[in-house]
Amino acid sequence: MTSFIVLGTDTDAGKTTFSLLFLAAFHGHYAYWKPLETGDSDTMKVRRLVPIAQVFEPMARFRDPVAPLLAARREQRHMPTIPEVVAARPHSPLPLVIETFGGPFSPFNESSLQVDLVRAFKLPAVLVGSTTIGAVGRMLAMTRALRTEGLSPIALILMGPPDEFAEERIRHHLPTIPLLSLTVPQGEWTIDSVQEASHRQRREWSSLQRVLNKAGENHLTSETSSVPQLQSEIVTPLQPVTSSFLESALIHRDAEYVWHPYTPLRGVEPPLAVRSAKDEFLHLIDGRRLIDGISSWWTILHGHCEPTIMQALREATASLDHVLFAGATHTHAVAVAERLLKMMPWPAGGRVFFSDNGSTAVEVALKMVYQCWRHRGEYQRTLFLGFEGSYHGDTFGAMAISRDPLFFGPFEPLLFETLRVPVDPQAVDDAFRSQGDRIAAVLIEPLVQGAGGMRMHSPEVLRQIYEIACQHQSLFIADEVMTGFGRTGRMFAFEEAGISPHLVCVAKGLTGGVLPLAATLAAPEVVTCFDTSDRSRTFFHGHSFTANPLACAAAVANLQRLESGDWKQKVDHIQLHLTQELRPLCDLPGVKEVRVRGLIGAVELDLPGGYLASVGPLLRQHCLEEGVMLRPLGPVLYTMPPLCTSDASLERITHAMRGAIERVLSPFPDAAG
Ligand code: PMP
Repeated sequence: MTSFIVLGTDTDAGKTTFSLLFLAAFHGHYAYWKPLETGDSDTMKVRRLVPIAQVFEPMARFRDPVAPLLAARREQRHMPTIPEVVAARPHSPLPLVIETFGGPFSPFNESSLQVDLVRAFKLPAVLVGSTTIGAVGRMLAMTRALRTEGLSPIALILMGPPDEFAEERIRHHLPTIPLLSLTVPQGEWTIDSVQEASHRQRREWSSLQRVLNKAGENHLTSETSSVPQLQSEIVTPLQPVTSSFLESALIHRDAEYVWHPYTPLRGVEPPLAVRSAKDEFLHLIDGRRLIDGISSWWTILHGHCEPTIMQALREATASLDHVLFAGATHTHAVAVAERLLKMMPWPAGGRVFFSDNGSTAVEVALKMVYQCWRHRGEYQRTLFLGFEGSYHGDTFGAMAISRDPLFFGPFEPLLFETLRVPVDPQAVDDAFRSQGDRIAAVLIEPLVQGAGGMRMHSPEVLRQIYEIACQHQSLFIADEVMTGFGRTGRMFAFEEAGISPHLVCVAKGLTGGVLPLAATLAAPEVVTCFDTSDRSRTFFHGHSFTANPLACAAAVANLQRLESGDWKQKVDHIQLHLTQELRPLCDLPGVKEVRVRGLIGAVELDLPGGYLASVGPLLRQHCLEEGVMLRPLGPVLYTMPPLCTSDASLERITHAMRGAIERVLSPFPDAAG
């Protein structure tokens, strides 16, 4: 399979129709890109009619339905140069169907014709012509004209009602170029009618597949030295059976050997078999493309395979794989620590302790606090104060604070004593009044309790809780594992309350989501307690992969990217969309509350059953049918898309959420869990 260009004998030849049918036939194996478009958007049309196809945004879009050069003049914009268009070609893991505008000899910019751009792409091209009267002449004239430019189409496509005479004459005059005849969808064009028309013509697709495979091989043998980028885009020849076979084999082996997190071993839907991911999309082996509406458990920050992070990672792999972090160091770890501390509201003297996931970051904070009080001689300070609805991870310390009855109830006898109060300054004050001298630290998820159901509290509440803790000389730990790195609109959620926690836990988005890495950031007053050469006062904690160099290299690239600050506008934009689209759901009977903050938009349904409510899997399924992957927390359907998410994808997410909610609430009794 190889990328190829779709040319038309003239403007209405049927290029987009061909692309639609082709993408519907080879869904999941090709992506679509129309670099320049004018008037009604073909890109949107393809997206609408073949929703499972990966479709890239054009490089430039002009309002008037005329030649791009003319449209650009009218809008007083410049047409790009040929090298600019070639360089703008999307980095697609899939080969591209690149659709041109008008005909090959349409004017491209002030100095060139489109045919010059086609030549610059160095890709095979198919030529599409319609079967309306004059079909033979148009096809022959264009093929001959292209030959004078040194270009020869690898296939000719006749589009429209079958025309045997035209086919016979074209074959006669152009015997060496394969000719295919395709008919257009019948009746109204819908996803189904396009799919049906495409399926009906599967024999034609097999012929075209052979032609494309051959074109790919030719490029491999004859042109790879001069066009090196072609090599990477030629992938194994397409075999429609292979993908479903691969998928079922994978699912079968998975079911035999793998134990998935938070997943019963029986009675659940098989897992989604993911082949690749890019930006906000997951590409499945079965050809589907899903929007990753929850950033893969809140890890992926900018988007999947963000180029600068992936590049940093590739470069890092060339020098240092891993080294123990006791008695050794490396540039990446130091750079991450420096950058993180600069983001804290502390004077000099803070330190960063690395670990590898959110739970361990929390565990480290708890142990540090505990030991800190011992070093200060306040041995009675052993109690941690946590909150109802909180979640801090699955290790024992984190479980003991959260004490979620469903998740951690069975472990109750093993959990150490903690305090657990509602997120309410009064309740915190009461706890401190009765047990204040025993409380070692308050541990809170600032502004949003994630796994507990995207429950939100105000910055004012957060500030009051912090102040009460400080009044009682308690330490304050901000668990920013989920909220960190811009998710709530600030770099860290605690900033919104203008407070200065003593410890901050980060993980998930620290590497942009590409590798596991976590850190516990300790303020100077915590560090001071350990600032001694007395070896018995060491903080005895460490993991084999502490500060893994590759993960740290990814984190440096991520933090550098965040330092530009452009993420803030993106968060605002997404927040606005979520607010506009989700807030009105409040009015639906059966909707309990709609909550939006930053990249997080949650709709809580007024249904019983908590996390195990049967409505959860139903909502998930409905959203999957709309091409959106979400993972409801019981009756709370929420999204937290990556920063790169396009408007079209945002629209699709909220549309899917709305649809899913309407479906489960109507008829209302069916949805009750
Ligand atoms: N703290 C918070 C606030 C979290 O949301 C999570 C995970 N969802 C954790 C800690 C635990 O992180 P991890 O899954 O990386 O152990």
